[in-house]
Amino acid sequence: MFDLNEYMASKSQFLMIAGPCALESKEQVESVLSECDDLKVLRSGIFKMRTNPDTFQGLGDQGIALIKELKDKFDFKFITEITDPRQVGVLNEVVDIYQVGSRNMYNYDLLKELNLMGKPVLFKRAFSATVKEWLNACDYMSDLGEEKILLCERGIRTFETSTRNTLDINSVVYIKQNTNFKVIVDPSHASGIASMVRKLSHVAMASGADGLLIECHPNPVQALSDKDQQITPKELNQIRKELQEMAPLFDKKVI
Ligand code: PEP
Ligand code: MN
Repeated sequence: MFDLNEYMASKSQFLMIAGPCALESKEQVESVLSECDDLKVLRSGIFKMRTNPDTFQGLGDQGIALIKELKDKFDFKFITEITDPRQVGVLNEVVDIYQVGSRNMYNYDLLKELNLMGKPVLFKRAFSATVKEWLNACDYMSDLGEEKILLCERGIRTFETSTRNTLDINSVVYIKQNTNFKVIVDPSHASGIASMVRKLSHVAMASGADGLLIECHPNPVQALSDKDQQITPKELNQIRKELQEMAPLFDKKVI
């Protein structure tokens, strides 16, 4: 059984978090949970922060009911993005780790609310935030501190346009050298390209990251959001195997 506190205290555990960009149906998440080897933490958006308001916004309350149902059947922890402090009431029952998305890194009211909740927070870097701004924003969650905040490097906006964002590996190395925070790399949003996820995952482990947040969908071409960057469970399993082989070189153990 996966123990979140043990992970937060460990220096060697390399955590693979995966799941669809957005929760779309029971069948979709069931496939991910049953086809991904050893998946301990499922990610999936229920309230989506879409750049275009005319696109799929997530299942909302219906998605929460779905996760409740699936938790009776499968053994997994759940991470999802909270986009508004008013969602705490409905999300708290199913959420094990709250995700703060890039668009909300500066939403200090949200951060203050999460500080009161006491649950671990995966805290994404804003598109153009410096590492200093990102770390300073953590002070709004000072009660959680280094024990309960996972910083997530998800790529930043640069002059480069061949990929969706630019994965700032410097930030991972810098944060690991200068703080005790855990760092999770999101190669899916960092590149926006499914075929790049494998190599960027290798690089993440080599850089000293503590884990990955990967978008994985049973049928990426039909995904309602981020279809170009989602990988299949089979591809995810292959990446897990490769990382397991690499892990001893970097004093890590893939979980
Ligand atoms: C996500 O992980 O679903 C997401 C929206 O990511 P970001 O906040 O990094 O854009
Ligand atoms: Mn996404």
